Amino acid sequence: MIVTEHHAKSLLARCGLTTPQGRVACTAAEAATAARDLGGAVVVKALIPVGGRGKAGGVLPAVSPAAAEAAAGTLLGRELLGHTVREVLVEQAVRAEQEIYAGVVVNAASGSIDLVVSLAGGVEIEVAAQAGRGRVLSLAVEPGTALPLHRVRGWLEAQPLQGIDATLLAATLVRLFQAAADLDAVLLEVNPLALAGGALIALDCKLEVDDNALFRQPEVMALYRAALGARERRARELGVSFVPLQGDIGLISSGAGLGMATLDLLQQAGLRPADFLDTGGGISEQLVKGAVELIMEPPEVRGALINLYGGINRMLEAAKGIAAARETVGARRPLVVKVLGNQQEEAWAMLEQLPNVHVIRVTQTEVAVARLAELVG
Ligand code: GDP
Ligand code: MN
Repeated sequence: MIVTEHHAKSLLARCGLTTPQGRVACTAAEAATAARDLGGAVVVKALIPVGGRGKAGGVLPAVSPAAAEAAAGTLLGRELLGHTVREVLVEQAVRAEQEIYAGVVVNAASGSIDLVVSLAGGVEIEVAAQAGRGRVLSLAVEPGTALPLHRVRGWLEAQPLQGIDATLLAATLVRLFQAAADLDAVLLEVNPLALAGGALIALDCKLEVDDNALFRQPEVMALYRAALGARERRARELGVSFVPLQGDIGLISSGAGLGMATLDLLQQAGLRPADFLDTGGGISEQLVKGAVELIMEPPEVRGALINLYGGINRMLEAAKGIAAARETVGARRPLVVKVLGNQQEEAWAMLEQLPNVHVIRVTQTEVAVARLAELVG
């Protein structure tokens, strides 16, 4: 999960890095108040989950509260880099003497955690790196090992540092590296890390936390939950993967591959999927009941396809879940059900008793899709 800049910065600050004081504002008036509270010059930044804002005009300096209000006014509601700007971050402006790029990235290819540094940081980093200006330095660290200060300092001292104090930079990089480890980051990038008045200040931060580690990152998990819609939150609690889509045909599948193939077949038949729901491996009555309730919730859903290849999972459990959900969501809309696997006969027998549930006993998903197309015609 990608953590929004201001949340990422407060996590960084807790890990001992220096970040500017800042406030989030949703209106131009709030931006003016924030600027007044912060005192002096500020920068007003579009809070959108992508980089490249500086070059696209999404980071505006403002010397007064009135200027901050005007800057927020031009940013809020605007489309920028494919996102609508709904919030801005108003931050104390920092006069950078030099902009450094510093990042920690999990390098899947080499199996190492890479500490990446360039003294040519800022919005031109990609251009500079490609043109060979401003070397990009990379230190590969064995996962699970601590990164001692002397190692980073020694590594930096072997490079041309253009006047930056190696001890200061090394100390910041060690904190950054430790922050990435503590936060289970797959990517932690500070660009620019600004040298200002003898300090190194993180002016921007991109943090991506490993989704598989959210269980031990309660604060990041809380942000994740807050960002999700109510249905996504329920899906997460059920333990299923769920993506709402724009169509009007519900879909439940067991396994992402089966789900994608079924999505394609629905599209080919002229049906528009309303969601992608993958139950994963552990099918229980409770899970299937919750999943059916979830996909049938939007009133625009006209019918649904349940495509389960259970293997050793007991399909009778799935049938019980479908029957239970039928009690709560009603039988007005058709359900086409193809369940295969352990106890399939018992499952079919139970499902065939249910009104407006249509059981497909063959393996081909095409048959189930054609049946559903007929029913919702
Ligand atoms: P990005 O372009 O989306 O990565 O957004 P950044 O947050 O990195 O901002 C882009 C550029 O704006 C930075 O490279 C800085 O040069 C500048 N910038 C950001 N924050 C400040 C600040 O507090 N003071 C000053 N002077 N410049 C800033
Ligand atoms: Mn940046």
